[in-house]
Formats: sequence, structure tokens, C-alpha cells
Amino acid sequence: MSKTAIFPGSFAPFTVGHQSIVDRALPLFDKIIIAIGINGEKNQYFSIEERMNWIESVYKNNPKIEVKRYEGLTVDFCKKENANYILRGLRDSHDFKFEKNIAQMNKELNATIETIFIITPPEISHISSSIIRDIIKNGGDVSKFIPKEIDL
Ligand code: ADP
Repeated sequence: MSKTAIFPGSFAPFTVGHQSIVDRALPLFDKIIIAIGINGEKNQYFSIEERMNWIESVYKNNPKIEVKRYEGLTVDFCKKENANYILRGLRDSHDFKFEKNIAQMNKELNATIETIFIITPPEISHISSSIIRDIIKNGGDVSKFIPKEIDL
């Protein structure tokens, strides 16, 4: 059976941290769907289209990666896409506390779906989309923190 993982997130914007998680998960799966959740999106700084285009530009030469958007529960989206795995990144104990609860809840909602965590390399564990947005708002240079294919 082919192994598909969903990597859900806001990706506002997609960072080298996200890229590192995807790149290191690639050998484990036949397909990874990077999925932008669009629940309660009203005040997003970047549009869905912009975020999808950026991620597509990073992985345009990789047939194992798809970029999609979804609404509703992540486990329902997994079922729709025949994916048995949810991929998430862990930066620190704060991420762990948050992610543990979501993963346990998702397991209760659908016991056939397993959440797989990949730990961030220490040199990029301080990178977050929210800090990057703050830097952009204040006119700073974020090129070091986002994949080189993305032209913000
Ligand atoms: P969400 O809004 O669902 O938290 P994000 O786009 O912020 O979405 O993050 C998606 C996933 O990527 C989460 O699992 C998060 O922990 C992980 N992530 C974010 N930044 C990094 C990073 N620098 N290194 C590793 N994982 C990261």
C-alpha cells in the first residue's frame, strides 16, 4: 500500500523550518501533501493562493509533493486523500505540549491515522512564521529564513 502523509499548517509563510521537515520526511513516504488549512482565515497576512504558489515553486521538480488547501478537520482531509499519516515538526517543549494534545485528539477521532513528528535541527528551531511576519511588517530582510525559491 502506498504511504501518503499530510503536512498540515498555515505556512504563512513557508519557512526553511517547514522545508527541513518535508525534506527529511520524504524518504519515509511515497507522497507528501502539504495542506494549507483554511479555517477562520479572515485576517490572514498572505492569501491562500500566494502561499500555495510559494510552496509549489519550492517543490516544482518533486513529483512526490502535492500542495492543497482544505477546510474542516485534518483527519477528514486525510481520509479524503487516503493518507494514513499526519506529519508535524517539533521545535521545543512548547510545540510538544501543543502537538501532543492535537495528535491524541486526532487519534481518538480516527484511530487509523498516525501522527509522525520530526525534530527540528537546533540551528533553525528559532524560526517561526509569526516572527517572520513581524520582521516583514517592519521592513526587515527575511531571505535567510525562507527557501531561496520563494520571492516574497
Ligand atoms: P500551524 O498554524 O498549524 O502551527 P505552522 O505553519 O505554524 O502551522 O506550522 C506547521 C508545522 O510546522 C507545525 O508542526 C510546526 O511545529 C512546524 N514548524 C514550524 N516552524 C518550524 C521550524 N522552524 N522547524 C520545524 N518545524 C517547524
